[in-house]
Amino acid sequence: MLVDSFSRKFKYLRLSLTEKCNFKCSYCLPNGYRGCAPKSLEVDEIINLASAFKELGIEKIRLTGGEPTLRHDLVKIIYALKSEVGISQVALTTNGFRLDRDLEVFQSAGLDCLNVSLDSLIKEKFQSICGIDKCESIKQAVDRAIHMRFKSIKVNCVLLKDLNDIEFPEFLKFAQSRQISIRFIELMRTGDNQEYFKKHHLPVSTFEQTLLRGGWEAQQSGPASGPAKEFGHPEFLGKIGFISPYSKDFCSTCNRLRVSSTGGLRLCLFGQGDVSLRHLLQNSSDRFELKEMIACALKLKPEGHRLHQNVYGNMHSLSAIGG
Ligand code: SAM
Ligand code: SF4
Repeated sequence: MLVDSFSRKFKYLRLSLTEKCNFKCSYCLPNGYRGCAPKSLEVDEIINLASAFKELGIEKIRLTGGEPTLRHDLVKIIYALKSEVGISQVALTTNGFRLDRDLEVFQSAGLDCLNVSLDSLIKEKFQSICGIDKCESIKQAVDRAIHMRFKSIKVNCVLLKDLNDIEFPEFLKFAQSRQISIRFIELMRTGDNQEYFKKHHLPVSTFEQTLLRGGWEAQQSGPASGPAKEFGHPEFLGKIGFISPYSKDFCSTCNRLRVSSTGGLRLCLFGQGDVSLRHLLQNSSDRFELKEMIACALKLKPEGHRLHQNVYGNMHSLSAIGG
């Protein structure tokens, strides 16, 4: 199993499939994706990468981006991870754009878990935050996913002061009759959102107190549950989670490893630079060397980020690697 110098164990990989995105979320890509995307990993490279990680004990792979559903070969990638490599849990983090069309196809290919971003439940508000009129179709996709019995369905909402914080009670109602987990993510400062951060950052801990007063109880976190602190309530089918990167224990339980869409191993979301693995993804005969490189690199994983000191590495926008 992969273990770093601080005895943290890693069973979970986040793999970005592309830097491109078709939304214009105001905290992430307010002007839309403008770059000239570098050549993303091909399916064969992804298979070699995932096989090495599997042999190193990785059980779950989350596909993210940018927007992973912009990849035309996404179904092939899900199928390859699940059926050829044998990854136990394949998850997708998406802005929901393609779900109305392709949810069933993704599930048939082997997708187990779904994370859908939904920053507002109100059509106009959603459009003003994400730059696109998709709120209603995403809500419908969430309901279809529940009906289709995915292993887990999470709804991600970045809490934004004076934009969607007022909707917190509405989100609770949304979770009342739905077996989902709503994850409120605290806005993270990146290279590109300095002014926005000053205006809209809000510590999510404020809302934890509201929940506790309303009879919600903290849940025990599972080994693959990641950094969210989760709460349950006997009268609610859904759960509520908070991801607060600025809280003091956030990094001590970090179980995340990330690989960029070009095969760069990112040890910390807010670290400086990647360790390039791509040259070892061309042939399965390089598997041993690839595994050695990953295990050695992991020993360099820092104890924690330094966001409090305004150090965010080369993270200009989370779209470059996935949240
Ligand atoms: N495009 C997909 C989506 O939006 O779900 C996947 C990539 S996106 C970078 C992954 C998650 O990161 C989304 O839930 C998004 O809301 C969140 N995110 C992006 N920028 C963020 C920031 N500055 N602070 C906190 N969360 C952020
Ligand atoms: Fe795109 Fe996701 Fe960033 Fe929104 S949060 S701009 S959907 S990558």
